[in-house]
Amino acid sequence: MTTPQQAYNELLQISREVALLKSLGSLLNWDQETNMPRGATSYRSQQRSYVAGKAHRLFIDPRVDELLNIVEASELVSDPFSDAAVNVREWRHDYDRAAKVPSRLVEEISRTSVLAHEAWVNARRDANFALFRPHLAKLIDLVREMAEAIGYESNPYDALLDGYEPGETTANVEKLFSQLREAVVPLVQAIQHASRRPKVEILQRHFPIERQKLFGQAAAIAFGYDFQRGRIDAVTHPFATDVGLGDVRITTRYNERFFNESFFGILHETGHGLYEQNLPAEHYGTPRGEAVGMGVHESQSRLWENFVGRNLAYWEHWFPRAQQMYPESLSDATLEEFHFAINEVRPSFIRVEADEVTYNLHIMLRFELEQAIIRGDLAVDDIPAAWNERFEQYFGLKTPDDSQGCLQDVHWSFGGFGYFPTYTLGNLYAAQIFDAACQALPDLEARFRVGDFAPLLAWLKENIYDQGRRYRSRELIRRITGRDPDASALIAYLREKFGSLYDVDG
Ligand code: ZN
Repeated sequence: MTTPQQAYNELLQISREVALLKSLGSLLNWDQETNMPRGATSYRSQQRSYVAGKAHRLFIDPRVDELLNIVEASELVSDPFSDAAVNVREWRHDYDRAAKVPSRLVEEISRTSVLAHEAWVNARRDANFALFRPHLAKLIDLVREMAEAIGYESNPYDALLDGYEPGETTANVEKLFSQLREAVVPLVQAIQHASRRPKVEILQRHFPIERQKLFGQAAAIAFGYDFQRGRIDAVTHPFATDVGLGDVRITTRYNERFFNESFFGILHETGHGLYEQNLPAEHYGTPRGEAVGMGVHESQSRLWENFVGRNLAYWEHWFPRAQQMYPESLSDATLEEFHFAINEVRPSFIRVEADEVTYNLHIMLRFELEQAIIRGDLAVDDIPAAWNERFEQYFGLKTPDDSQGCLQDVHWSFGGFGYFPTYTLGNLYAAQIFDAACQALPDLEARFRVGDFAPLLAWLKENIYDQGRRYRSRELIRRITGRDPDASALIAYLREKFGSLYDVDG
């Protein structure tokens, strides 16, 4: 007879072993993106699918269900927010999802993804959708099969979204997005007709890559990113990844002729990295020691990148340092000119380069297309045309080629349907969280002016990072801000900041 405590201990052991296997997968992925020679692609696909399949099988063993049943019926979970109850609740969520998906399907998605990724890189480089098309078609079939296996009430997209943002539904997201859309569309129009324009040419001067590396590293350190437990490497499509306990890596891409690309990319990934580096180490490998979901994750990258890194107070400290680093490019610019330039609002093709105002329109477009793809209403051959048509509606621009259209993002190449909405959820949460931080720490911006980010990091650590998956995202936002997630904080922030920069009423 297994006691509840024994069952719980056995679950902890399994969970840590699964985390160990997943961390090997992360390391293989990081290596693939940074250093791997091309000749290794096919065998790497076997390596990754092997560890993914192994982790999956270990976790979906019927023994896990038995053990969960024992603990679920015990005193161990009577306080719903105790460590044990949180672990059990989230294991149950993850188990029920994972157990419904056959290992064959998991391995097939993993194997297909590696080949699809390679094809996507080539397709994007050559602006040739046909190269990616067969892989994408296969992945869509597999992902739709996965949604069916997981199950859903009325919308198959819910099954996918729940994988990135546990407990969230398509209908909820749609409500938040339409609230935001109603405010953003007129704000973009007002800005397009504004007479004030930033001098963005300042940012397109010469910024030697060796100095960008030093400057970006200094900015990451100032936020509190720990290089004893991390590193920065250059890749095509930047990301942050938890490679194991004490090892959270970030990546970026450098552009000698554009200041923003690596600098704000690094601040963004540093935000993700800070979250991972500050999760409670004693709970590593269990839900209590993991990030809530991708929405809250993205709220941290956005908060550090935009609410801090594009704030005037931040640059009061950092602009003189930027001028010292790049005297030939920045010595004739003023702080105000520079700050306006890094906050330029301009409808453009590439999501990852989009400003804070138009960014969410990029996500809404993807959210709508993905739903149609998953419902089976949009065939793979029709994706480029559907993308371009909707893009023109939203942005008033004709997409010149698929590299700047439906081939620009990495997500579909790994079957990551359902992921995109978490970016805008992240922006919404970030605005609410930053408001709450400003109320709790009234001298926050004064601290930014002297380059001190420790009080903000400590507040985020206490309220978010230390909590792991104790609360689901809605509950977490409610506890921090006293309200449910909604768009009003982001709308107020965008109207105030960009209304005053461009001298318009949103
Ligand atoms: Zn991000």
